[in-house]
Amino acid sequence: MERQAKIYEGKAKILYETDDSDLVIQYFKDEATAFNAQKRGIIEQKGVYNNRISSVLFEYLKQQGIRTHFVRQLSDREMLVKRLEIIKIEVVVRNIAAGSLSKRLGLEEGKSLPEPVVEFFYKEDALGDPMMNEDHVRLLGLATPQEVRAIRKRALLVNDHLREFLYRRDLILVDFKLEFGRHHGQLLLGDEITPDGCRLWDKGTLEKMDKDRFRRDLGKVEEAYQEVYQRICGEKA
Ligand code: C5P
Repeated sequence: MERQAKIYEGKAKILYETDDSDLVIQYFKDEATAFNAQKRGIIEQKGVYNNRISSVLFEYLKQQGIRTHFVRQLSDREMLVKRLEIIKIEVVVRNIAAGSLSKRLGLEEGKSLPEPVVEFFYKEDALGDPMMNEDHVRLLGLATPQEVRAIRKRALLVNDHLREFLYRRDLILVDFKLEFGRHHGQLLLGDEITPDGCRLWDKGTLEKMDKDRFRRDLGKVEEAYQEVYQRICGEKA
């Protein structure tokens, strides 16, 4: 499957058309951004690690019966996916307080939540991806109430599966962001599942092993991505 015209270039990925109008190629870049692209940088080999990590996780979710846009990994940095009409909602699931939840509600970072918390953010860079509720989703016509219910249920199911899979690899899934889309009337999980959009802490030391190392200038960013890659994919880089 060959890359054709570029459809869209995002902060961390590029989407290309293929000769099949139902399929697109997702190309993973090394570029990293944070704080609504105010902070920019390169994380060497991130594209390669993220493509592989995402492929393994999508494959695992598929085995658990969760429908995703993933078709197959094509190369180091390319993944073949089903074309989606993206729903402009960033769905965040949290197991432990961190990041904007800690800030917003004054919860100490690292505090376990009694049950997972689901949050919706409006995927709109120009507005800085503001948090929104289901009424706002309806107001903006982003998804139907049935879709919102399905998204919430699916996101919690993904959380259960990923949490367990990652824990077996000595990683604590603190929180993560998902995106969904429509494909011929079917709701599919889209985008990527990588340390760019997940908080992952080492089970033993609680060391941060995700994009927070870049966001907060903690150093050893590449090393953290590489370690996550090795734990999830079982491959030496
Ligand atoms: O910043 P916040 O605490 O709300 O982030 C929650 C989770 O969602 C984190 O794992 C973060 O990496 C992810 N996220 C993301 N893209 C955004 C905002 C958050 O991947 N635009």
